[in-house]
Amino acid sequence: MPVRPPMFRPSHARAPRPSDAQERDRRRGSARDRGYTAEWDRAAKAYLDEHPLCLGCSAVGRLKPAALVDHVEPHRFDMVKFWVVEMWQPSCRRHHDVVKKHLEARFDRGELRVEDLRLDSRVAIAATLAMMPVE
Ligand SMILES: [Zn+2]
Repeated sequence: MPVRPPMFRPSHARAPRPSDAQERDRRRGSARDRGYTAEWDRAAKAYLDEHPLCLGCSAVGRLKPAALVDHVEPHRFDMVKFWVVEMWQPSCRRHHDVVKKHLEARFDRGELRVEDLRLDSRVAIAATLAMMPVE
């Protein structure tokens, strides 16, 4: 009986690798799994219509459109926290990705209180001035 020779996959035909985004989703659950549903999209858009400027930029006298709704306190899958509108704040991309990320790391280490995570708090303003020089 003939034995099928082993198959070798040519090097240019590697199994498709998941994209970085797919990898991230696999590890932490997809955006939808984390509560970012169509309902959230609608609520966030309505919120931004009412709060069009980035809170962190406004706090230092800069007028910049908000790109997203940030949760003041990281909600960590807690859907009750997720929907507390008083804990939302309008944010530009840079405030979210740079200043807020920095503040949340300090919050996680127990150095900051929840109020400090508001982009117009004294701590956040100091971080903005240090991390987001005027362009
Ligand atoms: Zn900003």
